[in-house]
Amino acid sequence: MWDKSKCDLCGDCLVRCQYVDYDRDKAVQQITDLIDGKPAEILRECVTCCACNEYCPTGANPFDLINRMQEENKSLPIPEKMVKFMEAGGTLPTELIRGDESKPALSLCVMERPLPDGALDGQMFEGMTVAKGGDYFCYLGFVHIGMASPLEENARRFVDQLAAIGSKEIVFVHDDCYSMLSKMKEYDIHVPFKAIHIIEYLRDYLKNHKEAIRPLKRKIAYQRPCASRYSPQMDPVLDDLFDLIGAERVDRKHDREEALCCMGMVARLDPERGKRFQDMNLSDAVDAGAEAIVFLCPLCQVSLSKQAEERGLKPIFMTELCRMALGEMAFPG
Ligand code: SF4
Ligand code: SF4
Repeated sequence: MWDKSKCDLCGDCLVRCQYVDYDRDKAVQQITDLIDGKPAEILRECVTCCACNEYCPTGANPFDLINRMQEENKSLPIPEKMVKFMEAGGTLPTELIRGDESKPALSLCVMERPLPDGALDGQMFEGMTVAKGGDYFCYLGFVHIGMASPLEENARRFVDQLAAIGSKEIVFVHDDCYSMLSKMKEYDIHVPFKAIHIIEYLRDYLKNHKEAIRPLKRKIAYQRPCASRYSPQMDPVLDDLFDLIGAERVDRKHDREEALCCMGMVARLDPERGKRFQDMNLSDAVDAGAEAIVFLCPLCQVSLSKQAEERGLKPIFMTELCRMALGEMAFPG
C-alpha cells in the first residue's frame, strides 16, 4: 500500500526505473505530481513491473500509488476484451484433488494450462492435494492491466477458498499467489494457513533428498518474475536452490533487482517496445554465457520461450530444472 508519510521525494524509484530515462529532477517532479493527484506521464510509461516498490529505500511503495492512479485515469490502452479475459479467470472450472493429508497442499491458481507438461510430475509433488482453477485465482495479474481495485475486492474470497481446502500448509506454484497473500495484512485479512513459496518448497525438498541429486553443471539465466518484487526474501533461497542442484545462476545485468519484465502484456499493446526490452533481456542472458533460461512464472515462459530458443537458450520451468537434477528428466539437448 502506498504510504505517503514514508516518501521523502528522493526520486530513486523513477531514476532506477528501467523503462524510462528520467533524471532526478524529472523523477521527483513525477512523484510530486502523482502525490498532488495529477496524471503524470509515468502513468502511461509504466510497464507495471512492480520494481519501484523494491527500489524505494523507505518502503513507501510507489508502484501501488502509480497502479491506483493508472486505474483512476485509465492510463493504459487496455482493450475491453483483455479486461474481460482477466475477469474470466475467477470463473474458470475449479478442481480439488484430495491427496495425502500429512503433506502440504499445492495450489496452481489458474496456471495449469500455461505450465509445461510434466512440470508437476515426479517425487517432489507425489500424493499432494492439488487445488486448481477459478476458485483459487489470486487476481494479482490485474496490476499488469493497470488495475489495482480487483485485488482488494477479491482478497477475502481468495483466502476463504484456500482456507476451505483445510490444509495447514499450502505451496503456491505461482509466485503471484504468494505475493498476493503477503498483501493481506494491508487488507486486514487473517491468513489461517502457512503459505509456502515454491522456491522454498523446492529448496527444502532437495535439501532433504541431497543423496538423490545429480549436479547439473549447467550455466542458467534466471527470469525473475515481476511478482517477486513482493517477496525479495526468496532471492537468497533461490541461490541456495541453484547451489543444491549444482547449477550456476549466471551473473548478468538483468537479474535480481535489475531484472526485466517478460513484457508479455506490453508486447501486445506496443510490439516495438515489448520486443526491444525482450531483446535486451535475452541478449544479456546469452552474453553471460547461459545455455538455458529458467522461469518461475509460466506466463513469462510463454512470452519468452520462442525468442529464447531462437538465440539458442533452452527454456526450462523451475520445477523441471529440479526434476532434471533428480534424474527424472533429461536436460534438453
Ligand atoms: S516513493 Fe520512495 S523512492 Fe520514490 S521518491 Fe518517495 S521515498 Fe523516494
Ligand atoms: S512499476 Fe516498473 S515500470 Fe512502473 S514505474 Fe515502477 S519501475 Fe517503472
